[in-house]
Amino acid sequence: MTKLKYLLPRVILALALACAPALAKADDATTQTLFTNVNIFDGTSDTLAEGMSVLVEGNLIKKVAKGEIGARDDATVIDGGERTLMPGLIDNHVHLNLTGLFADFGGAEYAQWDGIGAMAAANARDYLMDGYTTVRDACGQGDALKKLIDQGIVVGPRIYPSGACIGPQSGHTDWRSPRARAKGGPLAQVQQLNLAVVADGGDEIRAAARTNLSFGATQIKLTVGGGVSSELDPLWSVGYSVDEIKAAVEVAAFYDTYVMTHAYTDETVSMALDAGVKVIEHGQMVTEETVKRMADEGIFWSLNTAGFSPILFEHPNFAPGTPAGGKLAIAQDQSQDLIELVKKYNPKVVHNVDTVLSTLDQGRAHRDFEKYQFADWFGNHAMLISATSTAGEMAQLTGQRNPYPEQLGVIEPGAYADILIVDGNPLEDLSVIGARPKWFDAEPRGEGHDTIRVIMKDGKIYKNTLN
Ligand SMILES: [Zn+2]
Repeated sequence: MTKLKYLLPRVILALALACAPALAKADDATTQTLFTNVNIFDGTSDTLAEGMSVLVEGNLIKKVAKGEIGARDDATVIDGGERTLMPGLIDNHVHLNLTGLFADFGGAEYAQWDGIGAMAAANARDYLMDGYTTVRDACGQGDALKKLIDQGIVVGPRIYPSGACIGPQSGHTDWRSPRARAKGGPLAQVQQLNLAVVADGGDEIRAAARTNLSFGATQIKLTVGGGVSSELDPLWSVGYSVDEIKAAVEVAAFYDTYVMTHAYTDETVSMALDAGVKVIEHGQMVTEETVKRMADEGIFWSLNTAGFSPILFEHPNFAPGTPAGGKLAIAQDQSQDLIELVKKYNPKVVHNVDTVLSTLDQGRAHRDFEKYQFADWFGNHAMLISATSTAGEMAQLTGQRNPYPEQLGVIEPGAYADILIVDGNPLEDLSVIGARPKWFDAEPRGEGHDTIRVIMKDGKIYKNTLN
């Protein structure tokens, strides 16, 4: 049934394209690329399928089989040389607009819009060249950059934008100056640029969610409880009532999509689940009962691990004695059972790096370390599926709102041709996709990883060091 919903818009689109030949080349849809001699990690299995071939036609995977596959004479053939072919990676929590231009959230007030946009484009390119073919924006971004990427004007991954961060006054994403916060104060720049919006009560939350949808949001992000890096919200504080969260859930449902919420504590995660939220961001301080509930109800858990590594105390923003350092100490202390509980109940966990306020180099090191830390706690296979098939399954929660309705994060016929070829076997050695045990003390490494030899997104090759 779901497929039928897409049929009519596609027929209309096909008619529109037929009337505009300058926009699309007739042979684009049937361009073939044949990958031979590869071992496949398909996004789900814990073993590689050896001696395989993959045929890509247009932007989709057409055939996957052992040995040889017939292809047209004009197909581009890439011999994988017994390397691993796998799905492109998916980071389910990025902030492309909030990374690289200011060192703290207050700094966003002084950033220039063209710098924010240019930095976001640089971040997007960096993600793709690191092997990330899809990212989900976890707030701070409409769909303008996404559209430029989809049109091939800017190089970057597919983006699922969330629009402005929606949070309450004095919440995790209230970054306004005291002057802007005072009753009758001026509108803050973060509000004017729709990076973050303060919304209190059901009506304001509905309006904010609808504004985000008008800016192309594919899902709605709310901050429903205290954060670690933010100033005005104690870690234990509750941001929104269940009824307020329900207001956003209702608006999202009107657009056939879902709400994701920033929440650390058991209380705020439980309130979000009671309100019908489908994806929990962070959530590290939950109790066993709630982990079990998330697993039983099929809730997606966008769980970052680097932020719960003791290494984070080495960052000046989180040093012992600082306000954020104090919050981090409590958060880490109250999440001691996290690893054991995730292993016991096996909820649907998706890869979440959550880089904010960092330079390009710091962002790279953060991504590398998040992969390492996650795998150190939960294993290589768990890390890989969190950034491929499980993330692809979560993307389907966007329903008719989904700008990329075919399957992401898997190597199978009909899925998008978002493909990496890497040296070695990532199930045994995650360094081949960039996992590194160092974070703040990592050497700057430049763009991309030498071990990622081929990067294809939407059937188009962005890197190939094999031929
Ligand atoms: Zn975030």
